[in-house]
Amino acid sequence: MKIDEAIKNIYGKYKNDLSGEVSQSFPALSNVNPDHFSISIATVDGDIYHIGDLEQEFTIQSISKPFSFGLALEQHGHDFVENKVGMEPTGEDYDSIIKLDDQNRPFNPMVNSGAIVTAGLIDARNFETKKEELLSYYSDFAGGALAIDQKIYKSEYTNSHKNWAIAHLLRHFRVMTADFKTDLEVYFNQCSVLVNSDKLALMGATLANKGINPVTKKQCLSHDNLRHVLSIMFTCGMYNYSGEWAFDVGLPAKSGISGGILMIVPGLAGIAIYSPRLDKRGNSVRGIKVCEELSNLFRFHIFDYETPKRIKDIK
Ligand code: GLN
Repeated sequence: MKIDEAIKNIYGKYKNDLSGEVSQSFPALSNVNPDHFSISIATVDGDIYHIGDLEQEFTIQSISKPFSFGLALEQHGHDFVENKVGMEPTGEDYDSIIKLDDQNRPFNPMVNSGAIVTAGLIDARNFETKKEELLSYYSDFAGGALAIDQKIYKSEYTNSHKNWAIAHLLRHFRVMTADFKTDLEVYFNQCSVLVNSDKLALMGATLANKGINPVTKKQCLSHDNLRHVLSIMFTCGMYNYSGEWAFDVGLPAKSGISGGILMIVPGLAGIAIYSPRLDKRGNSVRGIKVCEELSNLFRFHIFDYETPKRIKDIK
C-alpha cells in the first residue's frame, strides 16, 4: 500500500477515537481544542505526505528536548555534556522530582530535570541571545523561521510550580549555577516554540537525513552528534513507555504534552502526529496508535531487515 493511502486509512480509523485527556499541566495548554488531529510524513527526498488539521499550530513542548540536546552537543562536545547529564532511562514520570544518579546528574536529557540542565548549557551571552540561538537552531531544522507562543510561555512560567521546584532542587544540589532561574526561562521558551505537523515532520526529516535539512540542504547536526541524539530518543524519548515503544515500534521518537509525537525513520523520513488527548504517561493516545500502525505496516522497526529503502518506492 502506498504511503498516502496508508495515512488516509489510519487517519480514518482513529479519527473518532476520543480517549485520553488533554494536559492539565497549566491553563493555556489545557484550553486547546482536543479534537485536532493531523499526520505528516516528510521524507529525506523533500516530499511531504499529510492529512488532517495541517494548519493547526501547537507548541513543541518536550519534543524540543532532543534539539536542545543536539545544540548542547554541537557547542560543547559529548564528554562535556555527558558530564552534566546522564544517559539512562528513569522509568519514572517525565516531571518526577527529583532523581539524580550517583554522580549527581539528572538521569537523561529527555526528562524535565535533564532538559532544564541542558537548556542551561546553551552557550550565548545572555538570556535574549540564548533564546535567539535556540530559536534559530530549531528553525534550521524546520527550514523556516519559527516563533514562540507568548501566551503558553507565560502560562507555564506562572503555573509550572513543579518545574520551579525541580530547578530549585538542581540548584540546591549544585547541579545548576546561580543563573538557574534564567536557565529555566530558556527551557520554558523552548517548550513554547510553535510548529504544525508539517514543520515538525521536516525537523524530524532533518534528523532522518544525516542531520541535513532535505529542503534547504543545511547541515544542522554532525554525524556523531546525530547518533547521540537518535540513541537517546530511542531509549528515553517516550518517558516511562520507552521500553515498550522500542519493542513495539522500534524507532527513535519524542513526545510532548501538547499532543505531538515525532518519530524518526533513519534514512527515510520524519513522521509527526498531532492529537492533544494524552494517556497517563503524557503521550498522545492517537499519536501512539498511528506510529504503531505505520511501523508495523511498513516494517520501519530499526531491527527489521525488510525496511523499505525509500518512501516513494513503496508500492
Ligand atoms: N513544558 C512541559 C513541562 O516542562 C513539557 C513536558 C512535556 O512535554 N512532557 O512540563
